[in-house]
Amino acid sequence: MREPVKTGGQLTRHCHCPRCGNPNPSVRLKRDKIDKMARSPIRLLHRLLGGTLYHCAYCRLQFYDVRKRKEMEKPQGKVAGGESAMPSGD
Ligand SMILES: [Zn+2]
Repeated sequence: MREPVKTGGQLTRHCHCPRCGNPNPSVRLKRDKIDKMARSPIRLLHRLLGGTLYHCAYCRLQFYDVRKRKEMEKPQGKVAGGESAMPSGD
């Protein structure tokens, strides 16, 4: 018996911000302690499925999503460094 996976109406092929719908969130390598994390069963599922951590620049929301960004379908070069350019008081 198959249970349909509820996606909260987000039946698109590409990921987008669950709050504002921004279709082009940035990829985060690790969670930011300051920005909010989307907490919902769906996001937990995405995380457990090995989803990518995304960050919306507009509402500063972090969320996991197994889908790729629209842009990411194109092949792109490796990100140098891996650190974001944002200054952190580490
Ligand atoms: Zn957003």
